Parts: sequence; C-alpha cells; structure tokens
Amino acid sequence: MKVDPKLLIKYPFLPFLGEYLKEIYFDFEEIFKGNNLILSESLERVKLIVSGKIPKYYDDPSIEIPIFVTSLYFVSQLGTDTIYRFADYESKRFSKNIQEEKLENLLILAQHLIKSNLEIHVIKRGPYEIFEIKMPLIDYLNLAPFLGGYNWALAFKDIHLGKVYLSKSDFSRLLEESYRQWIILKANELKDYYYPELEKILIEVSKEIEEKRKTYKMSVRSYEGIDPPCMRILINDLKSGKKLSHMGRFALVTYLHSINWSVEDVINLFKSLPDFREDITRYQVEHIFGLRGGRKVYSVPSCLTMKAASLCFPESPGCDNIKHPLQYLVRIKKLKVKSGKENN
Ligand code: SF4
Repeated sequence: MKVDPKLLIKYPFLPFLGEYLKEIYFDFEEIFKGNNLILSESLERVKLIVSGKIPKYYDDPSIEIPIFVTSLYFVSQLGTDTIYRFADYESKRFSKNIQEEKLENLLILAQHLIKSNLEIHVIKRGPYEIFEIKMPLIDYLNLAPFLGGYNWALAFKDIHLGKVYLSKSDFSRLLEESYRQWIILKANELKDYYYPELEKILIEVSKEIEEKRKTYKMSVRSYEGIDPPCMRILINDLKSGKKLSHMGRFALVTYLHSINWSVEDVINLFKSLPDFREDITRYQVEHIFGLRGGRKVYSVPSCLTMKAASLCFPESPGCDNIKHPLQYLVRIKKLKVKSGKENN
C-alpha cells in the first residue's frame, strides 16, 4: 500500500521515512556541497528555533522532509543545549498536530513511538461514552517522570492490573514527551557523522548561538535578596535551563509580580529555558499579572499548595510556622533587624 508522504511532515518517526528518503535520492553529501534551499533553510530553521522564533515549514514533503532531517543533523553537531531546544520546539508542534487526530489514529502513532501494548477502555456514563487509554505501567514510568507536576505521580492515577488509565489529553502529553525523546535519540545517533566541508558553517552558527545565549544571560535581571527557598530554587532551576512544572512557573511568576518585577524582567528570566517562546511566555505572564482576559491578578500560592506540588523546601528559621511564602520575607527581615540590634 502506498502511504502519503505528507504524513511524514507531521510524523517523521513513521517507519517509511527511510524508504521515502531513498525515493527522493536524499543525500547529505549533495546537500552539504552548498548553495541549495535545503541547506540554507535547515540552517535558518535551527537558528530561529534556538532564538525562540517561529521557522517556516513547507507543505511539499520533498522539500520539508530533507529540511527536517538536515536540521536534525545540524542540531546534533551544535551541542546538547541546541538538541534539547530543537526537540522541545518540534515536540510542541507535534502536540498541536495530534490534537486534531482521532483516538484510533493516536493509538497507531503511539505504536510507532512508544511500541507499547495499548488498549482503549470505554466508560459508559448515561448516554455518553468516555474513552480512556490503558498503558502498561512500565511505559508510563518511562515517560511520566520527564513531565513536571505532581498530577503525573502514580498516586494521582488509576491503576489496575499493571495498566495506567489515561485521559486522551494525558495520553497526548505522554506522546509529545515520547516524540521529544525520539528527536533527542535521533540527534544523538547523527552526532558521529562528520562532514569536514561543514566545519566553517558550524563554527559560525555555534558563535551566533553562543552570542544569543550571552544576550539572554546579560539581560536577565540580577537576583539578590532574601527570597523564600522555594522561589530561590525555582529561579536557579530556570537560570540553569531546567524545565519547570506548570505549577512551578505559575508560583514563580506570581511571586515575582508581588515583589514588583516588570513583565519584561520576568520574560527575560524565562529566556534561559530551552523551549522558550516569547509570544507564549508574554501571554502567560501578562495573564498572571492581570493585564489580560478577566484582569484577575493571581496571588502567590500558599505554603500548603507549594507542599502539595512538591515545590516546598523549607529552611529554618524563615520557614518555621509560616503559611505563605510572602511571610518568609517579613520573617527574615525581622530576624535580620533583631540580630543587628543584638550585635550592636
Ligand atoms: S515553607 Fe513556604 S516559604 Fe518556605 S519553602 Fe516551603 S513554600 Fe516556600
């Protein structure tokens, strides 16, 4: 049966990728000779993704697939950080594509990505049918720990006879993570292929990427003061490029707002993340700051909520008997004044 190569644009992990590349006479050596669309567009794509911008995609598989594979090769040569940024960006794009897919199609995609023994479970509620996906526990445990948020802990999931029962949205999120891992794996496989003719290009692109990283770091507001340990840890994680859970991001933005950071300063702080997208971050930050939608200003979550989300790392004496991270600031200031008086 002839498979539509357009499917590869959305899902390049499908098994007929290799066959298709042969069919169109894809050849790295030819592409790397220079002066062709595939080479220039692949480089452009990598640079745009690394700097948080949106690249161009083509509808024609004979152009798009070679650009995707060549971009993947370039990121494989540009270091782990670039691989992760690329994988994060592409997996978000994948996530948008699968939102339009029927559950049966998601299961087919999952067979190729996770290679798991999945089953659909139907729950009848009156006239309605609710569909869940049963995933073997072992496969769930291979993916869920990479996702931020306490709701992925097994304690919050239904498990029967070694299978985890998932909603379509949770299942889609796991597929997205699986695709992200597929890209990282493929980039790592390409790492060892060396093309001396690319050396000059790769040095130039590395320099450009490094400059962008430096700009991000310089523009991040310096962080001093007496922040609660939970927030200090979130900021340090962010600065080192670690992904934060949704709750972690939300708590940090509410906190920074409460200590009078501007929207721009908060956005600059988030630029260290590999999957940074300025448009999405700006939307979320402005929403939490009460500048969009219902104009509700969100408050910093309580210590209890932070604990429930595994984001509380108390330090004595500042955290002793407090209910809210902002109380920490008052407590520490008082303790400082007190110790100053005692020393005088
Ligand atoms: S006790 Fe409160 S302020 Fe202290 S680390 Fe936990 S959440 Fe943060």
